[in-house]
Amino acid sequence: MYAQRHLRTLCLSACLIACAASCVNRPTPNVPTTLAIVGGTVVHPQRDAARAIAPNSVILIADGRISAVGPADSVAIPAGATVVDARGKWIIPGLVDAHVHFFQSGNLYTRPDAADLRAALPYAREVARNKARLDATFKVYLASGVTSVVDIGGPFWNFDMRDAAQRSPAAPRVSVAGPLISTVDDPPLDLGDPPIIKITTADEARALVRRELARQPDYIKVWFIYRADADIPAQEIIVKAAADEAHAAGRPLAVHATQLPVAKAALRAGADYLVHSVDDAPVDDEFLRLAVARRIVYCPTLFVTDGYRLALSNTWKPTAAELRLADPEILAAMGDLNRIPRELIPDRVLKWMANPPPAEPSDFAIKNLRKVWDAGIPVAMGTDAGNIGTMHGASVFREMALMQQAGLTPLEVLRSATVNGAKAARHENDVGIIDAGKLADMVLLDADPLIDVGNLSRIYRVIKGGSVFDPDELIRSIR
Ligand SMILES: [Zn+2]
Repeated sequence: MYAQRHLRTLCLSACLIACAASCVNRPTPNVPTTLAIVGGTVVHPQRDAARAIAPNSVILIADGRISAVGPADSVAIPAGATVVDARGKWIIPGLVDAHVHFFQSGNLYTRPDAADLRAALPYAREVARNKARLDATFKVYLASGVTSVVDIGGPFWNFDMRDAAQRSPAAPRVSVAGPLISTVDDPPLDLGDPPIIKITTADEARALVRRELARQPDYIKVWFIYRADADIPAQEIIVKAAADEAHAAGRPLAVHATQLPVAKAALRAGADYLVHSVDDAPVDDEFLRLAVARRIVYCPTLFVTDGYRLALSNTWKPTAAELRLADPEILAAMGDLNRIPRELIPDRVLKWMANPPPAEPSDFAIKNLRKVWDAGIPVAMGTDAGNIGTMHGASVFREMALMQQAGLTPLEVLRSATVNGAKAARHENDVGIIDAGKLADMVLLDADPLIDVGNLSRIYRVIKGGSVFDPDELIRSIR
């Protein structure tokens, strides 16, 4: 119903969309609505560069799925179809952000364990805000062309968030992990339903996995934090217990492990998804062998540490894409360090404000991305959005620009943000490519994304499950 209503609004308001005669007066209710996207250049990121582009195409959508796609002279447009004129547009599969956290907003108050600004704004208020504004956060993802996300860890209310996304008429598809099973605790984030839970034995790990399995998680997540005094072999046994319990229930294990020895321990223990780069050393043959053998997905998250450095040194500036597509409420709060009394700002932040640290990804992370890609390991684009300085939705464009700088071609970046993202989201049979039978998730762009990934932010329309969204209308609706 929403799709039809929404389409009518768009048909009436957007002059570039030409409607068949039946647009306002729909045909009989039992006839499935067909949407025809006509004349656009379809980009197929799963193909090699020579075959990735299909100009002058027609895509037919019925009941939320793609029913046909092909050259305009080979796909007949059914009588009564609603036609979207896509001439001059590029059409890509809906983007997948394979690493986000809805319990965090991206603002300065969202990680009091990293920057304790609770005297300026209590953490309980920040968490309440994030829950109350979920619908807006869902919309900013769609506005940036992100039709699927993986929330890779948060409080138990993450599972309610996934339910809310499923009910919402304007939300991405959400895969979800519950609380992070961790080798360390994180008291500032514990308001009774903590996103991170410390366990100390294999039995505790198994018990926590079972509690989460009761909520049907898409992933079990381990926060494998290395500290100088850590006994990695002992921790590996605990991670393996979590992996075994998850695998016995048919669920994959995601692991945060950013140092090479910890990442290798995670792979030996049974990780299926590494949610960050290895950023302290070059990945070696043993790492690559283990990763290939376990058929993992690797998510580089190149921007997130820069986001912290920029935001907490008060040098964060929105990109053009963020000004257009990010949550205006969060953007407005990014300059709060100018307003908070200095006595309420922790020393570490004051030091960064006086002397901003360089905001570049680790050189190891950059070089490892190409090595991992060349070893044939699927790389999924993910932002770690919600962390301080990393906006929900529009930070995908910062992340993809860094991936291009790291040496991936625009086509490879797009593949990581669609085909491989679908693998990370565990929806590879349904999303990630534009083909008959797949869910109708796609983005219409005003410019060619294979010339430069910056063109991925030139969003004209976003289609999710056959519903058509105007990104600017989505943002206006949350102001
Ligand atoms: Zn994360």
